[in-house]
Amino acid sequence: DTVYLNGDYVAKEQAKISVLDRGFLFADGVYEVIPVYRSKPFRADQHLARLFDSLAQINLLSPYTKTQWLQIIEQVIQCNLSEHGEHQSIYLQVTRGIDSKRQHAITVPLAATVLVMASKLDSAQGTLNGIKATLLEDIRWHHCNIKSIALLANTLLVNQAQAKGFDEAILHRQQELTEGASSNVFLVKQGKIFTPPKSQYILGGITRDLIIELCSDAGLEVYQQSIHIEELSAADEIWICSSTREISPIVAIDDKIIGSGDVGPVTKRIAASLQAFKSQLLAD
Ligand code: PMP
Repeated sequence: DTVYLNGDYVAKEQAKISVLDRGFLFADGVYEVIPVYRSKPFRADQHLARLFDSLAQINLLSPYTKTQWLQIIEQVIQCNLSEHGEHQSIYLQVTRGIDSKRQHAITVPLAATVLVMASKLDSAQGTLNGIKATLLEDIRWHHCNIKSIALLANTLLVNQAQAKGFDEAILHRQQELTEGASSNVFLVKQGKIFTPPKSQYILGGITRDLIIELCSDAGLEVYQQSIHIEELSAADEIWICSSTREISPIVAIDDKIIGSGDVGPVTKRIAASLQAFKSQLLAD
């Protein structure tokens, strides 16, 4: 594994950061995860736009331009081809950098710490395996639209779900559906598709945006509106989505079977459109 750290391409084991890094001490940073199919970063423009947005929201200047980011990502992909193959997941994070001592307030400008690494992407075949989720209270903060590296609530929630035998935690704030612990949620009821609107309570997923586009191309409107958790058990189909998991059908939430308990027709149709979109792009 070769990673990019602050200007150098080094073996993962050799990549070290200071204990005074504000990312380590305060989770003061943001990140992105970009899927790579056949060595090409997928929806890179959208991921980098969201990175710039996350950085702006925490008052951090991007250390690189979009072109420079793309060059680094390309290089990391190339360095990891023999290790991980041509389908990869690129993780990148930017923290506010290293201070002279541990202090909350930032008193002098710091040089950001930048890490880009790759792993093997397993979801690239687009298989649709039904998974089970549990409904949990969304205990996160009020700026979930920032892709912050502070993921303690998300990790506690998914671990709580997995300890009970579920694959993902689906979250609600005061009975209103927000998203998964690391995914967005869609539901289908009587042929109509619904998903919670973008707000400070959800991360605007790149896969969520793409699915809405694909639905619209197929003449299907997606209703972006608030969803009461009672509507979950009444749904015909539910899926979660993310860059690394693409579309994952939810066949049960807690002890409630969703729809037929199998992968539904709308889920199959949208998942097929997503695969077709990927293939078309890769053929160009
Ligand atoms: N919400 C949360 C909380 C997430 O962590 C993720 C995955 N990064 C998503 C939604 C899905 O976003 P994307 O489609 O951009 O991967």
